[in-house]
Amino acid sequence: MNLQRVIIIGAGPAGLTAAYELSKFPDKFKVIVLEESSSLGGISRTVEHNGNLMDMGPHRFFTKVKEVEDWWKKLMPLADVSSPDEKILLKKNRFTRIFFRGKFYDYPVKMNATTFENLGLGETLKVGMSYFKSLLFKRKENSLEDFFINRFGKKLYSMFFEGYTEKVWGRHPRDISTEWGSQRVKGLSGVAVLKNMIYKALNITPKKIETSLADSFYYPKRGSGQLWEIAAEAAEKNGAEIIMQAKATKIHRATDNSISGVVYEQFGKEFELPCDILLSSMPLKDLVAGMENVPENIQKIAEGLPYRDYMTIGILVPRLNVTVPDHWVYVQGDDVKMGRFLVFNNWSPSMLKDPNTIWLALEYFCQEGDEMWTSPDEKFAAFAIDEMIRKNLISSADAVKDYHIERVKKAYPSYFDTYAQIDELKTYLDTSTNLYCIGRNGQHRYNNIDHSMCTSFEAVKNILSGTKDKSNVWIVNTEEIRRCFHSRKVV
Ligand SMILES: Cc1cc2nc3c(=O)[nH]c(=O)nc-3n(C[C@H](O)[C@H](O)[C@H](O)COP(=O)(O)OP(=O)(O)OC[C@H]3O[C@@H](n4cnc5c(N)ncnc54)[C@H](O)[C@@H]3O)c2cc1C
Repeated sequence: MNLQRVIIIGAGPAGLTAAYELSKFPDKFKVIVLEESSSLGGISRTVEHNGNLMDMGPHRFFTKVKEVEDWWKKLMPLADVSSPDEKILLKKNRFTRIFFRGKFYDYPVKMNATTFENLGLGETLKVGMSYFKSLLFKRKENSLEDFFINRFGKKLYSMFFEGYTEKVWGRHPRDISTEWGSQRVKGLSGVAVLKNMIYKALNITPKKIETSLADSFYYPKRGSGQLWEIAAEAAEKNGAEIIMQAKATKIHRATDNSISGVVYEQFGKEFELPCDILLSSMPLKDLVAGMENVPENIQKIAEGLPYRDYMTIGILVPRLNVTVPDHWVYVQGDDVKMGRFLVFNNWSPSMLKDPNTIWLALEYFCQEGDEMWTSPDEKFAAFAIDEMIRKNLISSADAVKDYHIERVKKAYPSYFDTYAQIDELKTYLDTSTNLYCIGRNGQHRYNNIDHSMCTSFEAVKNILSGTKDKSNVWIVNTEEIRRCFHSRKVV
């Protein structure tokens, strides 16, 4: 049998979706996945620490794409949390709030009794006036700052968006393009928030749900990574090979630019694998760095792509000073560096070894190599625990019974610097006709799990049909998709 050899770089959601889909055709393809780390699931992995399970930040499974939802449910049936089966998807009703000046506010922030009560009359009037001003005088949207002010007014923006956005991206919203805002909080505005409140009061399900207002989501009983462990198992059962701790370092190309093979490093040794097709979910920056004879202007674009890195610390305590029923909480204000914290008890009981404890995680956005990233674990833990005390979540460091720290490189592909020239890079990469760039960092696109998976669905469709045009793979989760794919399932 003349099988086509397909190499997939990365065993995250995008890589494993592609591996599983292609492994359904064992008479056509030999599928090999190379994964640099020792975990499956990429950023959506779940790690175990002393019997407690921890995700890399809150990972809710939410999608508007039926193909994705069906895929999840096929691998993990939906069941009630009381089911003794551990390999199930739970349906959760999202509950998240904002913690600001010691008080909890609804997320997204709403003009309701809680907000008025928390802010007091004077602040409420200022918020209302600045909101109405934003309705009357629209700014030209040159930056994320303009985007937020146009939708919430300057006062609410300065309270709830300015500092938080800067924490996440390490840049002021005035220096960030509106593209991120329109992708993440599309349609979200004072008016959308009001509409959502009315729908809720009347018990109506709106036809189109804005991403940030989505109320329910799915969650694997043993953490977000469980679904990817099951997907990997299913792909392997179909004959796919997954090579762990194998870092792709060089991409070989033939004279016509098509990919001819991949070199990977494992345990200090180099191995070379020839291939007919390559699907890459590794960061675009690293992919291009691994290629020879790349024109200088393209190299510069790839080298200049920016990322935001991420650290999270799981903390085990007997109890918190405040009751937190939330899945996660946004921490506003510049008195602490913590961006959010999540409470795993509220996601699934299987995340905890002992249900009589509280297992939570604090989240920090940082830059690989900066002071936070390089600080020794004990120092970082002491700093994070001190922030919990300052926020009155616990009273003293003695309350902490255990902790675990995870560092996530390139957690957020950012939309500044050479990102403005990314189309040139994509056009160049498309000259390698058998290369498909998939996923989040694989496309340098702020994709969630579902859109990362859709890039793989589209790539697999092209491989199966022999289509050479790859625009359908690149335009997942972009404005163009609405124009080109409005009659298809992927919207
Ligand atoms: C804090 C946070 C919260 C999030 N919350 C949500 C959420 O609630 N819902 C949601 O849908 N999405 C969420 N996401 C996004 C989600 O994590 C990503 O969309 C998803 O993991 C992307 O999948 P991927 O396979 O494209 O990339 P990744 O998950 O990054 O996987 C890529 C894989 O490639 C491997 N790799 C990289 N380089 C190489 C190499 N050279 N050789 C071999 N292997 C390599 C990596 O080790 C990794 O395993 C969140 C992300 C973050 C950072």
